[in-house]
Amino acid sequence: MVTSTEAQLSDRREFYDRQKESQDKTCIMEKYTPGCAPAPGSWLELDEQERISLVETYHRVARIKLPNVTAHAAFHVIVENQIALNLEPVVRAMHRLRNQGLSRHDAIHAISSVVAEHLFDILKTDQNENPEASQASYYAAVERLTAAHWHKGEH
Ligand SMILES: [Zn+2]
Repeated sequence: MVTSTEAQLSDRREFYDRQKESQDKTCIMEKYTPGCAPAPGSWLELDEQERISLVETYHRVARIKLPNVTAHAAFHVIVENQIALNLEPVVRAMHRLRNQGLSRHDAIHAISSVVAEHLFDILKTDQNENPEASQASYYAAVERLTAAHWHKGEH
């Protein structure tokens, strides 16, 4: 009796989640899947460490071999944050890359590569460049990003 009630409850919950997913085209936040955008509200409610560990878990469970899963996850989180915050150049880049045939996961990696280059430039130049100029150069690089550019790279 108890078990059947539990089963019914979990059926109902699954049905609700499925419905919610099809309405929002986003995922519930118990786990991270790069194939669909996390619901911005739920994603931004988590602290940075929780976001990183959700992303790490996805890559571990999927057995994706990475030199440094935490660093990889941190880049995912930076890009997901920018999408959740609706930063236009990044949102546009995501649409463009998807239209050019990249999976959402690969598009995240492509944008991550621009984030990585950008961070490297900031560290390398070691100057008190104003943050607006720095952000503008990041946005410009994201706007230039295409799937072809990504395939050509050594990623
Ligand atoms: Zn990844």
